[in-house]
Amino acid sequence: MIKTIGVLTSGGDAPGMNAAVRAVVRSALKKGMTVYGVKRGYCGLIEDDLEQMDELSVAGIIKQGGTMLYTARSAEFRTEEGVLRAKEICESHGLEGLVVIGGDGSFRGAADLSAHGIPCVGLPGTIDNDIACTEYTIGYDTAMNTAMELMDKLSDTSQSHYRCSVVEVMGRGAGFIAVNTGIASGALEIITKEMPYDLDKIAKKMLEYKARGKQNFIIVVAESVGHADEIAKLIQEKTGIETRSTILGHVQRGGSPTVRDRVVATEMGYYAVELLEQGIGNRVVGMQGGKIVDFDIQEALSMSKPYDERLHHIAEDIAF
Ligand code: ATP
Repeated sequence: MIKTIGVLTSGGDAPGMNAAVRAVVRSALKKGMTVYGVKRGYCGLIEDDLEQMDELSVAGIIKQGGTMLYTARSAEFRTEEGVLRAKEICESHGLEGLVVIGGDGSFRGAADLSAHGIPCVGLPGTIDNDIACTEYTIGYDTAMNTAMELMDKLSDTSQSHYRCSVVEVMGRGAGFIAVNTGIASGALEIITKEMPYDLDKIAKKMLEYKARGKQNFIIVVAESVGHADEIAKLIQEKTGIETRSTILGHVQRGGSPTVRDRVVATEMGYYAVELLEQGIGNRVVGMQGGKIVDFDIQEALSMSKPYDERLHHIAEDIAF
């Protein structure tokens, strides 16, 4: 029976990480374990920045964005000495397991630490939903809702001025946020790296729709394509329609998590503790078919995630 575990958040922050921390802490305490919160990801682990948690330590955090444990990227942890140092710190506190909330990089670190005898379980925490082994990552829904709300506001002002808005959304290498928020905000066009696009065709379509009475246009560009300024300039040149670009940026990473993020984070956090309780490590928790499941970390890292081309085509078909 495992008696003491730790929890940390690592890599980019995401709304809902706090809900996951809360679930880990509360469920571990319920099982009679001692729980440590590790500050600033692997940096804090190496620097022995740990704090024992109780029920009250996580009170009220479920509704807060960001991460109460803070997050960081640690170059030192990527070295053999760094991992050995982390192992030493874990042992000095009696940590027999660790929950790591983060992305693929954080899972690689969790695999290293597991290989050195500290069982780790990873939880997918990133707004980008770009972790292959899971249908859903903690933070994705909140980020998409934030992007959609901002695009709604842009749409109001661009309508008043008969303008076109080219909006760049986050998503790192993937177009998942772009395609979903593009549909949700009624975009004319969604430009992602996964699908071919042609600015001449887009310009032609805009002029055709303008002739039929359309007054404003939204074009969503995924971060992986980028160049929103340049795309806006070209669209304006090709159509004569005033076009502005907006890069939504880090605002998409903040805010109070949605119901979905709070609930999924809670389920995943609870599940992670159930694994550690059985002494099971080197796993990543994910969602498949709406169910919480787990994978070997190496297997999870070798998987790939398809882009939803059908969703993209639906968006194109109904756009006007
Ligand atoms: P995000 O998707 O938000 O960027 P991430 O977890 O992928 O999250 P990274 O910066 O890649 O973010 O990784 C977080 C930390 O995990 C790194 O600072 C490093 O300490 C550790 N890490 C990353 N890659 C490796 C690796 N290949 N081996 C060991 N540890 C790693």
